[in-house]
Amino acid sequence: MAKAKAKAKKTKRKLAHPTLPMQRHLNLQHEGRYFDLQEMFDQLNARYFRNRLRGYKVKWGRRRKQRPKEYFIFGTIQEEDRVIRINPQLDQPFVPRWFLNYILYHEMLHSVVPDEKIGRRGRRRVHTKEFNRREREFYGYRRARRWEEQNLERFLR
Ligand SMILES: [Zn+2]
Repeated sequence: MAKAKAKAKKTKRKLAHPTLPMQRHLNLQHEGRYFDLQEMFDQLNARYFRNRLRGYKVKWGRRRKQRPKEYFIFGTIQEEDRVIRINPQLDQPFVPRWFLNYILYHEMLHSVVPDEKIGRRGRRRVHTKEFNRREREFYGYRRARRWEEQNLERFLR
């Protein structure tokens, strides 16, 4: 009896995910163990950007065996192909959701605040005054910065 039950369950689960392995892999790049980046992106997009960010993909970056000990890159945005990558080390239970929201918001903000040219050599400044001003509009901005300061060590190990 128990056996039959287990079998039935298995079938059910299979039916719930009828996608091919490859498709599944592609679809779930935003889904971590603890956080679903797509869901968070959509909420931030509605709350702060009037859903202006279109065609963006948000995904967890790849885990790297070797990483720098001196600094930690929380997230990146690639404007050309509209991909936001979040460091997979943030997909951990000790990371507060509001902190991850802040990291995501920061990257999303890059897509709407233009960078500035500095100097004649064409260097760009991405964290402009306007960027910093808008970043502070994020709820709990100070709390997030404080958490980052207090917890950075945990990511650098
Ligand atoms: Zn930035």
